[in-house]
Amino acid sequence: MAKEKKQVKAITSMSEDFAQWYTDICLKAELVDYASVKGFMILRPYGYAIWENIQRIMDGEFKKTGHQNVAMPVLIPESLLKKEGELVEGFAPEVAWVTMGGSDQLEERLAFRPTSETMFSDHFAHVLHSWRELPMLYNQWCSVIRWEKTTRPFLRSREFWWQEGHTIHETAEEAERETEQQLWTYANFCKDALAMPVIPGRKTDKEKFAGAEATYTIEAMMKDGKALQSATSHYFGDKFSRAYGVTFTGRDNTLQYPFQTSWGSTTRLIGAVIMTHGDDNGLVLPPAIAPVQVVVIPVAQHKPGVLDAAYQLEKRLKAIDLRVKCDDSDQSNGWKYAEYEMKGVPLRVEIGPKDMEKNQCVIARRDTGEKYFVPLEELETKVQQLLVEVHDNLYESAKARMEANTFAFDSVEAIKEAEEKHTCFVKTMWCGDEACEVAMKERAGVSSRCMPFEQEHLGDVCPVCGKPAKKMVVWGVAY
Ligand SMILES: [Zn+2]
Repeated sequence: MAKEKKQVKAITSMSEDFAQWYTDICLKAELVDYASVKGFMILRPYGYAIWENIQRIMDGEFKKTGHQNVAMPVLIPESLLKKEGELVEGFAPEVAWVTMGGSDQLEERLAFRPTSETMFSDHFAHVLHSWRELPMLYNQWCSVIRWEKTTRPFLRSREFWWQEGHTIHETAEEAERETEQQLWTYANFCKDALAMPVIPGRKTDKEKFAGAEATYTIEAMMKDGKALQSATSHYFGDKFSRAYGVTFTGRDNTLQYPFQTSWGSTTRLIGAVIMTHGDDNGLVLPPAIAPVQVVVIPVAQHKPGVLDAAYQLEKRLKAIDLRVKCDDSDQSNGWKYAEYEMKGVPLRVEIGPKDMEKNQCVIARRDTGEKYFVPLEELETKVQQLLVEVHDNLYESAKARMEANTFAFDSVEAIKEAEEKHTCFVKTMWCGDEACEVAMKERAGVSSRCMPFEQEHLGDVCPVCGKPAKKMVVWGVAY
């Protein structure tokens, strides 16, 4: 019986079929379910618990820099959406519309928000009067709808959960500073909470957000070598302010337009975690966001005293504020080990009659599989130390992998050859011409991911056209 159940849990190996491996984890780690409405996903309790941990940590970071949460309507009148031409043009193919209210045809179509710049701008126009009220630093946690043609859990679905920050500032410099600050908040979050290294940088004009003057991004490398855009931050100048009539009386008593930003990160981050740390046994979660950080398993739990000893360990670990679960169900040990490996629980603590005799327990790491025999009095210290080590090991492994799969090239042919061998990141110089970006995609199959803040001088010319280079760009195959 136990064996059968274990087999049911088995997943496709990563090397055999990466896409299937990914889907298997999403379903078998019980993160999501497909919904009866096509292209939508259901976040199951375990998946949602990961999202809640992401929200809690990230929200705390936003608040440290003075941001406040608000809630905007889910529907946007068509006339409001259309006031800023570039934005609406960029999103038009993906907008879902409400045309009926009950049995009545609506006089004006209402869009399900694909993003809320328009709604925030309209609101700012109502509430902003004086420079004294600036900056307004708002954020909302919500879901948005974008009618995608092909969908995959977490990576691309017609509805996804996210946070969208929207701020307005007195000066352009202040708004630009905010844009970069928020990008670094994301980059640090990825490092500290997700153990995921990212490349922060600026998007080329071709890849930037519709309506933005500048878009900044953090790009991460997944285990298959592909790039995942993990969060973005946009600077709008005063474009939206002008389109929506957002004005304030300045320090010199003249009417002025504020400068605006927006920045967002989504449930896509969970997809990023799966593809950054997961393995053939399932999910591997960084401790900071793991719904269960430590699972306690009583071994031979029918023997006298074993369950009590296990509950005692659970209680002690809960007392130091860890998320702990003692699995006292009647499943076999083998089933339990496989189950919590699948769910990516960072540490497993086992205790059985033999351990009790020796006054010890066994701790097993999910990331390396290493086992430690730990004297019971050292439980708390060892668990805390190991959780830090798990995080650091996940981060360092991902970083080493990204570095080992990033290459500098000076010819398009070399890039094509490298990508054909194995999907990777490529660094080259670039002249700044969009035509060369398009040519790179056509000839080598890669798109520009970003112009990293940390620029390197790899040469003097653009490998596509041979003209003088302006920037170093990181290219890749993107999700
Ligand atoms: Zn060029």
